[in-house]
Amino acid sequence: MDLGIRGKRALVCAGSKGLGRGCAEALAEAGVDIVLNARGAEALEVTAADLRARFGVEVTAVAADITTEEGRAAVLAAAGQIDILVTNAGGPPPGMWSDWSREDFIRALDANMLTPIALMQALLPGMMERGWGRVVNITSQSVKSPIATLGLSNAARTGLTGFVAGTARQVAPKGVVINNLLPGIHATDRAVHLDGAASKAEGLSVEEIRERRTAGIPARRYGTAAEFGATCAFLCSQHVGFMIGQNILLDGGALSYTL
Ligand code: NAP
Repeated sequence: MDLGIRGKRALVCAGSKGLGRGCAEALAEAGVDIVLNARGAEALEVTAADLRARFGVEVTAVAADITTEEGRAAVLAAAGQIDILVTNAGGPPPGMWSDWSREDFIRALDANMLTPIALMQALLPGMMERGWGRVVNITSQSVKSPIATLGLSNAARTGLTGFVAGTARQVAPKGVVINNLLPGIHATDRAVHLDGAASKAEGLSVEEIRERRTAGIPARRYGTAAEFGATCAFLCSQHVGFMIGQNILLDGGALSYTL
């Protein structure tokens, strides 16, 4: 299927690895020029070079912490005119509901709620003026069903989801489409980290934790960054003009419900 976005320009945040990288790859494959962000310059440059070589698109790499005001300013200055925005950042650490301090909550809200909101506030006006835009926010299955150890994620991402629900309907008349993409468990560094933390907390091996988590997924495996990226690219395509403010779950069937 031709996604109809060849020649567009996308900002993909937190995209040197994992799900962000999957999105950047699928967009690059569709002929989209990419502004790619992550904190670590080395991995970022490797990914940027790989995308240029494989897909022949223009890739601008900006090493910055997207969750800080200075980081966002640097990224937006390098980005210029953006048609497609994919928001993403690292997820908050696991823990217990009783342990988190105000500072922990502020950090999680900054990273997983206020950063995507600030990026949308910066880029939506230009998209609306030009009459076309796409935004995909990478959130989590935790907005549909809370994950006990990820209370900071449950809280921050649900706040973002509420903001998007209202905003998506306000920008849609100008040809701008915002949707959220909700990952279940995917085989990335984040999953390795969470499996490791659960293994320590429960005194089980990492393999035992992985087997148990896999058993809870009807597809009987973790998702891949490539299939996540392909869905993201579709949500950035010409074909989603009638899909407004939706929350698309990619979890291998793990959450059991009818609607
Ligand atoms: P990952 O494999 O750990 O990759 C994270 C990427 O984001 C890296 O490129 C990292 O590069 C970059 N990054 C992290 N913090 C950043 C920051 N402050 N500013 C700029 N770049 C940053 O993680 P992932 O699995 O792709 O997860 C992406 C998001 O989806 C996270 O918020 C995660 O919580 C959420 N999620 C993941 C899963 C899963 O199973 N994988 C499930 C549900 C939700 P640098 O470290 O160099 O900055």
